[in-house]
Amino acid sequence: MDDHALAQLLFPDITATPEEILAQYPRRQLPENAKVTRIAPSPTGFMHLGNLFGAIADERLAHQSGGIFYLRIEDTDQKREVAGGVQTILNVFRDYQLDFDEGATLEGDNGAYGPYRQRQRAKIYQTMAKWLVQQGKAYPCFCTEQELAAIRERQAERKENFGYYGSYAVHRNMPYEQVKACIEAGMPFVLRFRSEGDPARRVKFTDLVKGTMEFPENDQDVVLLKSDGIPTYHFAHVVDDYLMGTTHVVRGEEWLATLPIHLQLFQAMGWKPPKYVHTAQLMKMDGESKRKLSKRKDPELSLDFYKQQGYCIAAVKEYILTLLNSNFEDWRLANPDAPIDSFSFTTKKMSVSGSLFDIDKLNDVSKNVISKMNAQQVYTLLSEWAQQFDVDFYALLSRDPDYARAILAIGRGGKKPRKDLATWSDAKPYMNFFYDELFSPCDDAYPEHVPAADRQRILQEYAVLYDPTDDNNQWFDKVKALTDSLGYASNMKDYKKNPDAYVGNVGDVSMVLRVAVTGRQNSPDLHDVMSILGKERVLARLERALRAHAVPT
Ligand code: GLU
Repeated sequence: MDDHALAQLLFPDITATPEEILAQYPRRQLPENAKVTRIAPSPTGFMHLGNLFGAIADERLAHQSGGIFYLRIEDTDQKREVAGGVQTILNVFRDYQLDFDEGATLEGDNGAYGPYRQRQRAKIYQTMAKWLVQQGKAYPCFCTEQELAAIRERQAERKENFGYYGSYAVHRNMPYEQVKACIEAGMPFVLRFRSEGDPARRVKFTDLVKGTMEFPENDQDVVLLKSDGIPTYHFAHVVDDYLMGTTHVVRGEEWLATLPIHLQLFQAMGWKPPKYVHTAQLMKMDGESKRKLSKRKDPELSLDFYKQQGYCIAAVKEYILTLLNSNFEDWRLANPDAPIDSFSFTTKKMSVSGSLFDIDKLNDVSKNVISKMNAQQVYTLLSEWAQQFDVDFYALLSRDPDYARAILAIGRGGKKPRKDLATWSDAKPYMNFFYDELFSPCDDAYPEHVPAADRQRILQEYAVLYDPTDDNNQWFDKVKALTDSLGYASNMKDYKKNPDAYVGNVGDVSMVLRVAVTGRQNSPDLHDVMSILGKERVLARLERALRAHAVPT
């Protein structure tokens, strides 16, 4: 077989040589040990936690080492592509402040190693494919879907491995004249790799997460180019990551199974493979057992979920780092205020078996992160979220920013800041009672053992005592005085010593006030709340509560 003639027959339009292409992709001049990483999502419109997980690892590895982090769009599968898919990808990474040094942008390419969208690279893959054909390392296969299905059926009957290999690789040795006749008849073909692998032999390989592993060699004649001349993932990965100078490929462990193919292709091309970092699956607890996060069952797999719920970027990133590196949490304890980028990220501390995603843990991390922000930061981020996801609330927040900031300042700044908010969507239920439009009285939340008549007296007499200029101590002294006047215990020690001597204590009195003013049993410090609400609102609410309980005469 004249392999050059075959190559020419299959790729008459390809005139470039691999050398010419290689010359356009010079090896990068970077400091020693600088890493070049990439994130290579497909524009399916669905961005998931795994994308972010990988991207944070990529970004850290590159930027920590003075290297390059770039974006490549893997759009070889047109069926899965959706309009706006690239925009979705770019938005997510912009939101998470993962800055690319190179890659696809909406305006075009940024960088010297493009094009960064795979479909625009068709000629490059075809040039490399033609070169493989010239060396007898690839060949056309004209099998139809039906023929491939028949092969599968036979393999199933015989309980043999599925695929195109050995005696099942029926077009592997098709004579040139026959290929020519098929081409002239306009028959579509895929280009297959001519594997010399033998599964009885083993390939050894070291992954930076999984350690040293062994696999049987690949004996499948995998497809390199589909019938439209667009490459499969396998071939595109090898060509692109080599040309673009990727030093570390971070990707999901679902690609481990096909790694022997990739290594074999690198060898066939005469290129050194990159280092691989296969990240473990994200798992979650489902009852007693662990399982993979699933697109169908788990809304939290989608990055949209975090945006809609109003998780702040810093918290999600912080939590993902706890999943990515097992020593991150200890580092955070020792460096509570250090910026996240000063943590030394390493592949050595990545989980081998599977990272357990736990939304409660994320919420804790998030509460912590938000509790360290000042009121202005919270106000800004909350408003940004509300503007997009809760316009009515946004209108209230922006009507009087000082009022909103005062609410958000409660319990902030001290040694033990309040941790009420895990997400921005928690803010409305937390602070709604500050707004008359959202305040909903709850007249059955009063302590049950406080008789109705006492309740009325508390409300009535407090309204007289109340002075909005009182500081915290004066405020509390008045509540205690009212407590004593009712025969309730203002001193908790006295009360605990002899509870039967009292109907209730100072806690009950302030609870009555709290329920009247806030409509709930739990609220931030009541003096703070009243100071922010202001005289008019406090009195109006006390009066409303009184009326609601008025005993009919
Ligand atoms: N397009 C592939 C995916 O989305 C990329 C895998 C890789 O990073 O190599 O799974």
